[in-house]
Amino acid sequence: MTTVIDGKQVAASVIEAVKSATQALETDAGVRPGLAVVIVGNDPASHAYVSSKSRMAKECGFQSVQHTLPEETTQEDLAALVAKLNEDATIHGILVQLPLPKHLNSEPIIQSILPEKDVDGLHVVNAGKLATGDLEGGLVSCTPAGAMVFVRQTHGEDLSGLNAVVIGRSNLFGKPMAALLLAANATVTTAHSRTKDLPAVCRNADILVAAVGRPEMVKADWVKPGATVIDVGINRVSAPEKGEGKSKLVGDVAFAEVEKVAGVITPVPGGVGPMTIAMLMANTVIAAYRKAGRKSPRF
Ligand code: NAP
Repeated sequence: MTTVIDGKQVAASVIEAVKSATQALETDAGVRPGLAVVIVGNDPASHAYVSSKSRMAKECGFQSVQHTLPEETTQEDLAALVAKLNEDATIHGILVQLPLPKHLNSEPIIQSILPEKDVDGLHVVNAGKLATGDLEGGLVSCTPAGAMVFVRQTHGEDLSGLNAVVIGRSNLFGKPMAALLLAANATVTTAHSRTKDLPAVCRNADILVAAVGRPEMVKADWVKPGATVIDVGINRVSAPEKGEGKSKLVGDVAFAEVEKVAGVITPVPGGVGPMTIAMLMANTVIAAYRKAGRKSPRF
């Protein structure tokens, strides 16, 4: 029987652990985790993401601060806000919602966030710590951290002897995911658009992670029977079966056929997606514990 991972349920259990850790920190050290979310412009999808992040931060018991800046905000104004948040002792995590409007350059803004407040895990210092195997000192990018929770639940902490294939090599997901799997002793292959005979590479995987952005690219005959398949892709495709002009979300994995081969699989939606916000909350509480000089819990 194939196990379909319920990402909403796993994310809810992470949130419960974050709430307990938040209460314990407040009781023991008088510190309340603070998360500042910055959004620039009017992109409706970004506003929806930011609202759910702010809502979840409140639910976790954080001090939740949202800065909504107008579309015409200058690079200098945004940099000045980040500098102010860096200095604010009540703020432990800073998130600048991406993408920024086209006239703004996101990279210097992200790199100006103090690494210890970079709860998105995008600062080069955090990427570097992960790349050097320092999992305790830095903050890990939220989506790979969430995908890794599924891997640990399925295979345990030690992936010795298991082959893992990550399709995709982005800084946001593919590279940190490969680093996490490697740190857990998996034998890791990172595949990408220049990989030769991708189906054959994938068939070697005990753990197959797809983060490409191509609807239902991974087919059943790419998957080793019994493998764990983690689908990170989020693709909106037309769904005429639901009515004219309707659409639906699908992953990078052809779920209906792969489900018959895989041992464990994540659905889209409802798999990796809900974990991203949960791990953002986890990173914020971890940052607050470290600032208070306490050993942070693991999520
Ligand atoms: P990205 O930056 O566009 O990277 C895509 C990767 O896929 C690249 O490394 C690319 O290779 C590779 N690729 C493209 N076509 C390929 C092909 N035909 N065969 C093999 N590899 C191919 O995307 P991303 O930010 O990593 O995101 C990937 C997917 O995950 C997207 O659908 C995104 O929406 C989703 N995502 C979801 C979450 C979430 O659940 N919260 C978070 C992040 C991302 P090259 O490097 O050679 O171009």
